[in-house]
Amino acid sequence: MDMTDQLTGGIGQELSWQIPLYEQFHRHPELGLSEHETSAAVAAKLAGWGYDVRHFGGTGVVGVLAHGAGSCVLARADMDALPVTEATGATYASSIPGVMHACAHDMHVVALLGAAKYLAEHRDIWQGTYVALFQPAEETAAGSQAMLDDGLAAGIPRPDIALAQHVMPTEAGTIGTTPGPVLSAGDSVRITVHGRGAHGSMPHKSVDPVVLAASIVLRLQTVVSRETLPGEFAVLTVGSVSAGATANIIPDRAELLLNLRTYDLAIRSHMIAAIERIVRGECAAAGSPQEPEFEYYDQYPLTSNDPQANARVTAAFTNAFGADAVYRTAPQTASEDFSRIPDAFGIPYVYWVVGSVPQAAYRRAVANGTVDADIPANHSPSFLPAVDPTLGVATRAQAAAALAFLAGTV
Ligand code: ZN
Ligand code: ZN
Repeated sequence: MDMTDQLTGGIGQELSWQIPLYEQFHRHPELGLSEHETSAAVAAKLAGWGYDVRHFGGTGVVGVLAHGAGSCVLARADMDALPVTEATGATYASSIPGVMHACAHDMHVVALLGAAKYLAEHRDIWQGTYVALFQPAEETAAGSQAMLDDGLAAGIPRPDIALAQHVMPTEAGTIGTTPGPVLSAGDSVRITVHGRGAHGSMPHKSVDPVVLAASIVLRLQTVVSRETLPGEFAVLTVGSVSAGATANIIPDRAELLLNLRTYDLAIRSHMIAAIERIVRGECAAAGSPQEPEFEYYDQYPLTSNDPQANARVTAAFTNAFGADAVYRTAPQTASEDFSRIPDAFGIPYVYWVVGSVPQAAYRRAVANGTVDADIPANHSPSFLPAVDPTLGVATRAQAAAALAFLAGTV
């Protein structure tokens, strides 16, 4: 047995159709809410394997396979690509300039399809209901909500547990799980502050929003450094400041774009209150003629694994892949909209990460301390998971996690 066989077990034989399908999806990436070809291909596969196929939120697809009494497991993959021009040089690189599967969602789709086919063809080893859910538009935080708004919760059997995974730039052949927070809550904030415009030579006639914005940016640095308990995780980034267009005009407004990440919703609430307090205070100090405006957008919920369910999935992974392949991951600072789906049902969920960098290259970069420099991460134009063994591992992981709740093993 080579490494792939050890890691993929009997499900590894699915790779013969999975690899060409993965390359096809990678060549034809589709942006969020426009996953028409991907969605149609997924629906056709599911129907062919005997799944009852339903559509939610435009391009969202759900396949339901009922097989006797037992638990109902929902497994989710996201389908959307990113507005990135691919620079991997792969033979199956994107054929569409400016669009790329730079976050491995194409691999999530094909892995979940592999698990769905395996479960359909091995009904002798499990019973219950399996729900394979393919979600649009994860990257814009719109897709899971779009499916829910379109009646998902009432339109499928009520699941007892939900599962999802993400391919990451860690060592291929490994899987990371953790109880509790695994991905951060993410919020973006657009803040508009108002001044009074004037000629650049007559600052005494102005309320200068450029100076006001600069004070706000500096003062916001204290939200994490001075107001958050040391050791608690919180990120506040001012990603954009814009005001004015030319040297000799003092503009009448400034706009700031902020991004927040937290693992604790109480800390999140405190940060939002602190931001609004600081902005209002600085506006008052500047003599701003109008109240500031706050717009919250691109909001991602917290992803926090149920400890008991996580323990069950971790045991299934250890059984399938061996203890050396399974580790406890640190929470990631990235965010996801997956948890809106289990939260809508009020059910526990488990979200895990699958490595994708060839072992030798990863270990060399770790030894040299050059992981960040040498290994392209998700959203990079050079991000390209090693298909072998990543796809097989991700497929078996989805099957093994589901079977842990459906009285089977893979
Ligand atoms: Zn992404
Ligand atoms: Zn992603």
